[in-house]
Amino acid sequence: MAEKTMEFKTELSQLLHLITHSLYSHREVFLRELISNACDAIDKIRFEALTKTELLDGDSDWKILIDIDKEAKTLTISDNGIGMDEESLVHNLGTIAHSGTKAFLSRLKDEGLKDNPELIGQFGVGFYSAFMVADRVTVDSRMHGASAVQWTSDGTGSFTITEGRRESRGTTVTLHLKEDASEYLEEYTIRSIVKKFSDFVEHPVVLLTTEKDEEKGTEEKKEEQLNTRKAIWLRAKSEITSDEYNEFYKHISHDFNNPSEVIHYNAEGAIEFKALLFIPEKKPFDMIMNNDPKAHLNLYVQRVFISNEFENLLPAYLRFVKGVVDAADLPLNVSREILQENPQLDKIRRNLVSRILKTLSEMKTKNYDKYLKFYAEFGPMLKEGLQSDFENSEKIADLLLFETTATKPGEMRSLADYVESMKDGQEEIIYLAAEHRGIAENSPFLEGFKAAGKEVLFMLDPIDEFVIPRIGEYKGKKFKAANKGDVGDEETLKDEQKKFEGFLGFIKEKLSGVKEVRLSTRLKESPACLVGDEYSMSPHIEAMMRRMGQPVPEQERVLELNPSHPVVEAVQSMYEADKNDPKLSESIELLRDLAHVAEGSKVENPAAFSSRIAALMARDLGTK
Ligand code: ADP
Repeated sequence: MAEKTMEFKTELSQLLHLITHSLYSHREVFLRELISNACDAIDKIRFEALTKTELLDGDSDWKILIDIDKEAKTLTISDNGIGMDEESLVHNLGTIAHSGTKAFLSRLKDEGLKDNPELIGQFGVGFYSAFMVADRVTVDSRMHGASAVQWTSDGTGSFTITEGRRESRGTTVTLHLKEDASEYLEEYTIRSIVKKFSDFVEHPVVLLTTEKDEEKGTEEKKEEQLNTRKAIWLRAKSEITSDEYNEFYKHISHDFNNPSEVIHYNAEGAIEFKALLFIPEKKPFDMIMNNDPKAHLNLYVQRVFISNEFENLLPAYLRFVKGVVDAADLPLNVSREILQENPQLDKIRRNLVSRILKTLSEMKTKNYDKYLKFYAEFGPMLKEGLQSDFENSEKIADLLLFETTATKPGEMRSLADYVESMKDGQEEIIYLAAEHRGIAENSPFLEGFKAAGKEVLFMLDPIDEFVIPRIGEYKGKKFKAANKGDVGDEETLKDEQKKFEGFLGFIKEKLSGVKEVRLSTRLKESPACLVGDEYSMSPHIEAMMRRMGQPVPEQERVLELNPSHPVVEAVQSMYEADKNDPKLSESIELLRDLAHVAEGSKVENPAAFSSRIAALMARDLGTK
């Protein structure tokens, strides 16, 4: 094979630079990352070989070997895992799958990288962390049925691909250590790092040590297993330290931060399994960028890693949960498809879901501040469950928090709090969806409710309006949008309705795109507002969908006028006096535009609107 030199994507070399410089004080994590990769590679081949034994090529003595060469100043980590061919080497180590790398890099710069290793850890440093300790890295790899390939790079701008030397399946990563990284040539350093980060790794992590026989003048290589390989999820909770949990979490998640919550339990009875689950503190980078809509729990059967691709093991809305499930009763040696159909998986999923929801509920009552942080990161994801997990929708609803007319900005209340403080005679949970608190708070739609002393929930997250009203009711109370449908006390306007009848019909004719014009009971201070049907979309959601290029049918809304507002009264008198007065149609258009402005929407014709306002000001200020 001819040697080929290829460039890293620009963002990648910047990233390498950042990683090597920012995580300096944590640089020993490179070993954890390389061992994790080796372990994943072994898991992959072991699983594939369950149904295709020929892939093994007779080599199933799983092992991760570490070899130190003091003279050459190299540290080598090799495995007999799945290996990579040329294409996967170039793809996995030369390009970066994340399309948002650039955005992430600028965020790192903005937020002050030096003091913020957690941020870069969120990215998942992975293989590239090797460049923290090495000025050159060689990866020699061979896949079943392919020839060996070698990848070399100094981690700056490019990498070279050439013929490899490996004779058997697997991968050898050789680190040419930097001058200042000679500590990693010491056996005791390696021993202690493996103990600290990778003790629970399932496959043996073996250090090749050299035994010198001074008398004979010979040297002999001996294998020393460094890890105890005790699957952490099989151990008793009382024996596991939080450090061990944290390290295990980092091993499986490639997250740099500690988890926010650990859930470790044995399910017994109808279905038996062991679960070790983690709720992360922050969204890992790939969750932000790839927006992978599936949950990936690692499924083991009797300690054998099967897959992290079983969709029916955990519903998508709980995809923020990371961890391991080890089920003793599931069959080994069957294909993924057959296992996927196993009814036991449904039972396991139900059990996991209820355990996770219970944990969150406890966090909410016992550690509210921690829950708020969780909610800020993962609340929107949790809400997706309202439209997919009907069995648990009440429990999910219990976990939700909202700002309301009764909270300070940024503070939140639960639906249960809301229902508890409902006034006598109030039958519905009243909500208003808006783009942000400022718009919600000052909305004309609240005037009537405020006057009646009723609390209104603010739905400020775009997903709210799609999912929450659809659960129908909470604790027997229906959801009711403040800006949609009737408010129920239309009877009180009977007399005015007669007086205004002709006027309202006239406006309807003048204005296109308005479904109906009627008098309002919800307005107290504002002259006009636009009201949608009970199940229509709020205008800010409509605008958001349009911005995202989604087709949204034109929605006609009802124009409501406040009969006791002086402007409405004045326009009505103008109508009685002279229907052809040009100021009359101008004023009607202005009333409609004002309704748009007040709800936070754009007016149809901003130029016409501003010239009308300017004319009014000129008149009022007496310049014309
Ligand atoms: P991550 O492990 O988080 O996916 P890395 O940057 O560490 O990210 O590795 C990138 C990819 O390279 C891995 O997903 C894997 O496909 C491949 N890879 C890395 N190390 C090995 C290895 N020892 N054997 C086989 N494949 C590997």
